[in-house]
Amino acid sequence: MKHIRNFCIIAHIDHGKSTLADRLLEVTNTISQKDLQAQVLDNMDLERERGITIKSHAIQMEYLHNGDNYILNLIDTPGHVDFSYEVSRSIAACEGALLIVDATQGIQAQTISNLYMAIEHDLEIIPVMNKMDMDSAMPEEVEDQIVELLGCKREEIIRASGKTGLGVDEILEAIVTRIKPPVGDPEAPLQCLIFDSVFNSFRGIIAYYKIINGTISKGDLVKFVATQKEYEADEIGVLKLDMSPRTSLSAGDVGYIISGIKTSKEVKVGDTITHVKRPCEKAIAGFEEVKPMVFAGVYPIETEDFEDLRSSIEKLQLNDASLTFEPESSIALGFGFRCGFLGLLHMEIIQERLDREFDMNVITTVPNVSYRVFTKKGDMIEVHNPSGLPDITLIDHIEEPYIRASVITQTNFLGAIMTLCLGKRGILIKQDYISSNRVELIYDIPLGEIVFDFYDKLKSISKGYASFDYHMHDFRESKLAKLDILLNGEPVDALSSLTHVDNAYTLGRRMCEKLKELIPRQQFDIAIQAAIGAKIIARETIKAVRKDVTAKCYGGDISRKRKLLEKQKKGKKKMKQIGSVEVPQKAFLAVLKLD
Ligand code: GDP
Ligand code: MG
Repeated sequence: MKHIRNFCIIAHIDHGKSTLADRLLEVTNTISQKDLQAQVLDNMDLERERGITIKSHAIQMEYLHNGDNYILNLIDTPGHVDFSYEVSRSIAACEGALLIVDATQGIQAQTISNLYMAIEHDLEIIPVMNKMDMDSAMPEEVEDQIVELLGCKREEIIRASGKTGLGVDEILEAIVTRIKPPVGDPEAPLQCLIFDSVFNSFRGIIAYYKIINGTISKGDLVKFVATQKEYEADEIGVLKLDMSPRTSLSAGDVGYIISGIKTSKEVKVGDTITHVKRPCEKAIAGFEEVKPMVFAGVYPIETEDFEDLRSSIEKLQLNDASLTFEPESSIALGFGFRCGFLGLLHMEIIQERLDREFDMNVITTVPNVSYRVFTKKGDMIEVHNPSGLPDITLIDHIEEPYIRASVITQTNFLGAIMTLCLGKRGILIKQDYISSNRVELIYDIPLGEIVFDFYDKLKSISKGYASFDYHMHDFRESKLAKLDILLNGEPVDALSSLTHVDNAYTLGRRMCEKLKELIPRQQFDIAIQAAIGAKIIARETIKAVRKDVTAKCYGGDISRKRKLLEKQKKGKKKMKQIGSVEVPQKAFLAVLKLD
């Protein structure tokens, strides 16, 4: 055990975590030059394209130091706020962390929130300043920030570059010499912390864990504490580039287990695995059921694809336990599902995966958060869909979720950012200077306001320099109104939203304007109206037109004409017939794109 080092990498997105991890794997000969494909850890196509790590993974390296062979387990963590619970579990499985800060960017919001998590778990922090090869690197300034944040010495900060390989050896030395070996008793009752799981179509769910105490052997009968389910350990082993089976693993080791688990719901990140015969007295602390916070309707464009959509979502859920769904129906859209997501990015990823992996063309409705509705009778109902709101006369009050957000910015954007947060009903909690020209702002903001366009706006007003991170904080009473949209007099339930009464008028007007832009002109006039209850608060009209796209082809170019017709047909596929009006897919997300 004294030759094991378990560590993770914490970094703000794009600061070079994956690239540096690749260098570590290369230098330790964990992967050959031949196999080296950029960013090995991000092995889902979508992850590689978007350059983000969605699921955390683990990999074992071997490293020779003073004649001793060390086992280094790198536990990769996802970099986006939507997945922060997974980060916290990965961190809990480590004794140390590389803190990577981009030398051209400095400390950002996710750097700090993940760092706090690591410090809470008593991890040894090794600060690394990455991208030192770039001309725009500001080593002195960024060093100041790191020293200020960690209270470390300047000499402890390693200067590195994932591109040139600078500092990689120094990082490996620091992992061995500065990070403590895991502690734990191999003879004690088994306690394994699950920090991740993946779905394999041949082998079922593979759970990744760190053994805190005890020893697990192939064939053991084990129990997952949170679910109380029992399994036989068909195969256990360690994670190299591939899975490498072992007969037994003990305290301090990081490994995997395959035990015929069929769905990801049975494996919960943060849960404890123990033996059925000699169970541990208590589960590892800190297990939390992750609850989706953002909900949206997902509907097939073609009604007959409903069952296909169900099986596609079920398959996605096999390897993504944080995705929830239940059937719902909409007057406008027919039969579909109300899906729950961890956040907006998660929602986008699911929508994209449905399209790519299952060829499912779907309409996603306006996302909303989950509300707590208190009735006059004293009941509390969780509402995941504005159209599921009880009759207004039965409602005593409604509570909405608030997040605690951290925004880090240069001081010159401070005014604009405070105005933005205020406009989103944010309450300033604290303001801290990280260095002379960088500030961290702590705000409490309704999650419902963030869901829409907060992040995009923040990026644009700060020219991309402000960063943002958040976690769920509490529920608070709010004055909310249900805003309905009507097309030619018919309410379109899929376009309804709950909004703060003070914003309802503006939102209604802007929704109508945006929909006017997005809905193509048709052979009759279309009235778009926004209403609160029976009261119409805004209206726009789309004037009729006779549509003949081939007219501008002058009859000559047949192939161009055919292409145009095909394009039009395709365009049609992304349309939904609502009453007499054809509405394009993107109109349902109009509310997200208001400027
Ligand atoms: P992650 O989001 O933290 O995993 O960041 P990535 O490893 O995906 O890197 C983000 C971007 O920065 C990619 O385009 C990398 O090629 C680039 N990058 C990473 N490290 C370095 C470095 O040391 N120098 C330079 N010049 N570019 C780097
Ligand atoms: Mg990455």
